[in-house]
Amino acid sequence: MSDTGKSRNKDNKGKRLYLHTFGCQMNKADSLRLSEIFQAEGYSFTKKLEEADVIIYNTCSVRHHAENKAMSYVGRLKSIKDEKPEVVICVVGCMAQRLKGEIIRRLPLVDYVIGPSSMFDLPDLIKKEKSGVFADSSDKRKEFPDVEFSSINIDSPFSGYVPIMKGCNNFCAYCIVPYVRGREEYRTRKDIINECKVLAGRGIKEVMLLGQTVNSHPHFKDILKETAAISGIERVRFVTSYPGDMDKETVDIVAGITELCDNFHIPVQSGSDRILKEMGRKYSTSHFNDIALYIRKKLPLASISTDFIVGFPGEKEEDFKKTLELVKKIEFDQSFTFKYSPREGTRSEKLEDDVPREIKKERLAELNKLCGKMSLKRNMLFEGEALEVFAEDKNTGRSSNYKIVHWYGPAAKMGEKVKIKINKALAHSLKGKRIT
Ligand code: SF4
Repeated sequence: MSDTGKSRNKDNKGKRLYLHTFGCQMNKADSLRLSEIFQAEGYSFTKKLEEADVIIYNTCSVRHHAENKAMSYVGRLKSIKDEKPEVVICVVGCMAQRLKGEIIRRLPLVDYVIGPSSMFDLPDLIKKEKSGVFADSSDKRKEFPDVEFSSINIDSPFSGYVPIMKGCNNFCAYCIVPYVRGREEYRTRKDIINECKVLAGRGIKEVMLLGQTVNSHPHFKDILKETAAISGIERVRFVTSYPGDMDKETVDIVAGITELCDNFHIPVQSGSDRILKEMGRKYSTSHFNDIALYIRKKLPLASISTDFIVGFPGEKEEDFKKTLELVKKIEFDQSFTFKYSPREGTRSEKLEDDVPREIKKERLAELNKLCGKMSLKRNMLFEGEALEVFAEDKNTGRSSNYKIVHWYGPAAKMGEKVKIKINKALAHSLKGKRIT
């Protein structure tokens, strides 16, 4: 493990970086790598825009709203750029890949627009180029730089993100990811395990293996086992599991190894096979039920979380009812629900968005109500139980099945393992008393 400080570039001494991240955990992991690269180049961080020499927005394209928000944040930099024209403004990530030069046309104050594949070249580009758009999908990919760029989660220094694959081959009708992140590419097992070892050496106890469809990595099961066996690693999480690639063997592996967290995020999206087919999802509800019920049988206290889209083109009342039935059957611990809206550049953009806005709103409200009830029902299973929690704050942490736990009694240090006797379940968290 090299000391990144040794390679600090003296020219950048005193320069400051402001970095804001939108979107998913993959984006957070990318931002962490980016910040280490800039640190190695001699930059320090600032939370104040007006102090920054380089401002980076790492953007998300999954929803229209996320893009609008990023554009509006960048637009607000005008007074800063007017006052300090030498400040370098960069828009990186998925929105940069999707909109390319359009971003500079709409916001001429932007100096660099850089897609996910060229993002880690940014310090070099700043040195060599005055400005530009670098979002060509044929760019040489450098998404996984050397392990010396660790992926420690700065919000939680005992936990680290480790991307194991990137991109997606599924091309679901509503999703922009395969177009902006490209096709699936897998990191080698050796590289992944090396990085986890480096993180463990730095005191990291929890690693989160990341990928848009993390379980489609050809060596996923071995990676789970090998990561869990690393000395010092106490918890291994993995997100996001694609339902079509999920099998009972994976559940058995999680059930058999203490370090593997009993927490499965498997986005089902709809309870109707007809709609799943329209969405281009490559699994059936019977496959999903089979896996989810197997988890419930093998690991009764494991959490299962999911995503739903309501109001996809062609969704009839009977399709929506099937979604409600699925929720009742599986009793998800947590559900992330969204109203369908077409994304430019996706296949479903060409379909008629025929579910009226009011109906979408009503369906979403009904689904949220039911999902909230289910979350509470699941959480009530823990009343009276003692849960082992890693503190993320003085009196808040997460259990191995990813429940948020608040406690009273002695405060803990971040990363400390404490035991909490749960005495109250809420829909989205648990409350209790610290007992060790
Ligand atoms: S599996 Fe579907 S929804 Fe998920 S990233 Fe791939 S294309 Fe998008």
